[in-house]
Amino acid sequence: MPDIRAINEHLQTRLREEDRESVPAVEAARWLAEAGLLLDSSSRPGLPLRRLLRADHIFGQEQIPRRSGGRWHIRRLPPVTGYHAHIYYDEASRADAAVVREALAAHFSVRLGRWRDEPVGPHPQAMYQVAFAPDEFARIVPWLMVHRRGLTILVHPETGEAVGDHGERALWMGRKLRLRLRGLR
Ligand code: ZN
Repeated sequence: MPDIRAINEHLQTRLREEDRESVPAVEAARWLAEAGLLLDSSSRPGLPLRRLLRADHIFGQEQIPRRSGGRWHIRRLPPVTGYHAHIYYDEASRADAAVVREALAAHFSVRLGRWRDEPVGPHPQAMYQVAFAPDEFARIVPWLMVHRRGLTILVHPETGEAVGDHGERALWMGRKLRLRLRGLR
């Protein structure tokens, strides 16, 4: 079994180094062969990588056009500069949200946004925002899993591309809400 993690890291690093938005799969297969990460097929160049793409193993993979038979490309993913957790509440759960808020402030390195009792931006329900650096993720997110007191929480990365950050790259705990993403475009 090829080292999927090393393959993904190598592809994203090289895209960044060469300052390219994407790379066609056939060329990416050569990169991986050069790096000794995935032996290419001499009779059918790109086939071993296509197998990984069909199994949905490669970050940033996409087909152009977007249908079966489209040519595979690997897109550069934006770097994550930080994370937000959005803690949703209503009248009945406001006290629970306050307990979570105090604990977050006491135990972690976070920047707390103010209470937003009215829907704001893409958020359809009252919430407050908790911003933190990438190296706090592994402490805060597991803590929230256990201590969220039944509240719905959205965790999303900050990459500068807001629609994807709140959509395909978002993580939900509890009941998933329908965000108003159209306003972010
Ligand atoms: Zn946010």
